[in-house]
Amino acid sequence: MAARGSRPLALTLALLKPDAVAHPLVLEAVHQIILNNRFLIVRAKQMRCEPGQSRRFYREHAGRFFYQRLVEFMASGPMWAYILAHEDAVPLWRSLMGPTKVFRARNNVPDSIRGAYGLTDTRNTTHGSDSPASASREIAFFFPEFSEQLWYQREEPRLRRGPVYYDAEQRVHCVLGDEETELP
Ligand code: ADP
Ligand code: MG
Repeated sequence: MAARGSRPLALTLALLKPDAVAHPLVLEAVHQIILNNRFLIVRAKQMRCEPGQSRRFYREHAGRFFYQRLVEFMASGPMWAYILAHEDAVPLWRSLMGPTKVFRARNNVPDSIRGAYGLTDTRNTTHGSDSPASASREIAFFFPEFSEQLWYQREEPRLRRGPVYYDAEQRVHCVLGDEETELP
């Protein structure tokens, strides 16, 4: 993959929710959308939310009628969590996901992720941070070992300069030539 240019990379948190992971073809289709849109996958892991973790993650929605349903769904099966990098990471991932509500997504943006794969307003396939500040908070929530500051110091400039390749086994992008120099 060639060099990216002069604009700094931004980060966002993407979750492939349990409804997506339950269906292997949907999981692969969403993963492919990430790759096709020139995101760099900085970190990726399969994980499962504890109920308490899922309640904390969505605490801004505590008290809404769908809150209990939402936190139970998020803890109901495995998910994939990704740290994605792109010059326009937050708005690009949000626009690829489409509207929150599946009915609106299907009608207005049928080729969005939720328009194509969402099942219900709760089981809507993906999560994406809604601002850079949310992205930082949510990345720290799911990847406590990841330092955004160190990433900007050490990895971002090299990812931007390239060349970068996609490691299909780890499902992340790496800088060519970095294989030997293990990052802390
Ligand atoms: P988004 O995920 O698009 O940022 P919100 O932050 O408003 O949307 O809501 C968080 C999640 O809560 C949604 O992705 C969806 O899973 C669930 N949700 C939101 N609104 C509803 C609703 N009206 N009915 C059922 N579930 C909902
Ligand atoms: Mg939201």
